Amino acid sequence: MEFTFEVKETDLLGRVGELRVGGKTLETPYMFPVIHPVNQQIPTQELTSMGYAGLMTNSYIIYSRRRQEALEKGIHSLLGYDGVFITDSGGYQVLEYGDLEIGYKDVAEFQARIGSELAVTLDRPTGYPQKRPVAKASVDYSFKNAKATLDEFGEEKTTWVGPIQGGLYLDLVRRSAKSLVAAGFEFLALGSPVQVMQNYMYSDLVDMIVAARRAIPYSVPLHLFGAGHPLTMPLAVALGCDTFDSASYVLFARSGRYMTRSGVLTLKSMKYLPCSCPACAATSVTELSEMGHQERTRVLSLHNLSVLREEIESCKEAVSEGRLWDLVEERSMAHPKLRDAFARMAEYSRDLEVGTPALKDRGLFVRSDLDRARPELAIAKSNLAGATSKRSKAARVVAGPSGSREKADEDLYGVHPVLGAYPIELQFQYPFSQTETSLAQAAPPDPKRQLKALGYATVKKRAGEGKPVRSRRTRRGASPSLRSSSARSR
Ligand SMILES: [Zn+2]
Repeated sequence: MEFTFEVKETDLLGRVGELRVGGKTLETPYMFPVIHPVNQQIPTQELTSMGYAGLMTNSYIIYSRRRQEALEKGIHSLLGYDGVFITDSGGYQVLEYGDLEIGYKDVAEFQARIGSELAVTLDRPTGYPQKRPVAKASVDYSFKNAKATLDEFGEEKTTWVGPIQGGLYLDLVRRSAKSLVAAGFEFLALGSPVQVMQNYMYSDLVDMIVAARRAIPYSVPLHLFGAGHPLTMPLAVALGCDTFDSASYVLFARSGRYMTRSGVLTLKSMKYLPCSCPACAATSVTELSEMGHQERTRVLSLHNLSVLREEIESCKEAVSEGRLWDLVEERSMAHPKLRDAFARMAEYSRDLEVGTPALKDRGLFVRSDLDRARPELAIAKSNLAGATSKRSKAARVVAGPSGSREKADEDLYGVHPVLGAYPIELQFQYPFSQTETSLAQAAPPDPKRQLKALGYATVKKRAGEGKPVRSRRTRRGASPSLRSSSARSR
């Protein structure tokens, strides 16, 4: 089947892309709502009208409960939906409740015959916590099935999705991803143990995604299983996940949980509905509390789906505007563990440079210590190293834009609030004069020391200019190596 993935816009490792499969198009990042093939509470028409162009469902449940009907009608007619279907193999169900003898062949043949556009090959989720030999066995089992499926059913109309397993064993995750790419998979899906998400182990999730992403080519899209939570979505997008799936919208709704973009609330303790989606606009907390369980689940599901959609759209907009880092940071304030995960992401700043545009048409915000690790600054720092050349014996530090009355025997430098001295020729190059810092972050390394370290005999400040922005934190913020070398040169 025709399968293409085209990257349109990028920021960090996140991208807005177009995934085309079976003549249908999905714009990514995208979240596939998971529907139950037997007991679906939200009619698929409602999902279509909310703009959901693709759904995930479980092929094992269809196989075990509606097999004949599905084979006759095909999945689209069976479930009343024209969009893209991704079917999960049901590896988990086979393992947990499997009363049917079913192998990769049965699963693949069934998925192809019912007409899934995208189908995950029969895998075995690693789970957490897990002993290493069991984790390794889950990787081997999943890969063996994946490879055999691609070899035998590669010509089918269905595009096969290769499941990456390995859990928290990052070397296994890497190996799993690499071997799937080598086998020829064009679309991979990372198994994220439910327990990792439930236990707020977001920093581990960051490590897992980075391990997988490093092992697969940039052009290959990556799905993250079961990560349909508004809080983690920007983080996962920033690390290079393109699609998600989740049943959380309905699972949360069933237990009266109300998603917001800054966390999940419990209907029981709410007085107001802080949302203006059509579902919320038409009801109130009192009305919701008085509804029957089924109707309340329906309304809350619609609301949750609307929040998830909004978050996906926010991610796309942030990529497009080059402010994905800011979005991840804003969301990270919702939970301390998310803040930790954001800090972990900052440690992978070099990985994030790949998709970060060299030029952005908006100010670069530095609001926290973690922002100092922004890939934009790292890129600027390496540009700076290439652009700095000492031409004269003297340097002059100017605070504002430079005019034309400069002396020919002096090299002029501006001061960037984070990077310190930079050749004035770079002043209109992003982000040297486009960086906005909070007061606490306006602590550049001492430009005088930096320039002395470059070998300038004299460093002056332009007469009449205000001092470059400095704060009491300057000395602590200065790079220790520059400080000691300039101290010795005195
Ligand atoms: Zn709402």
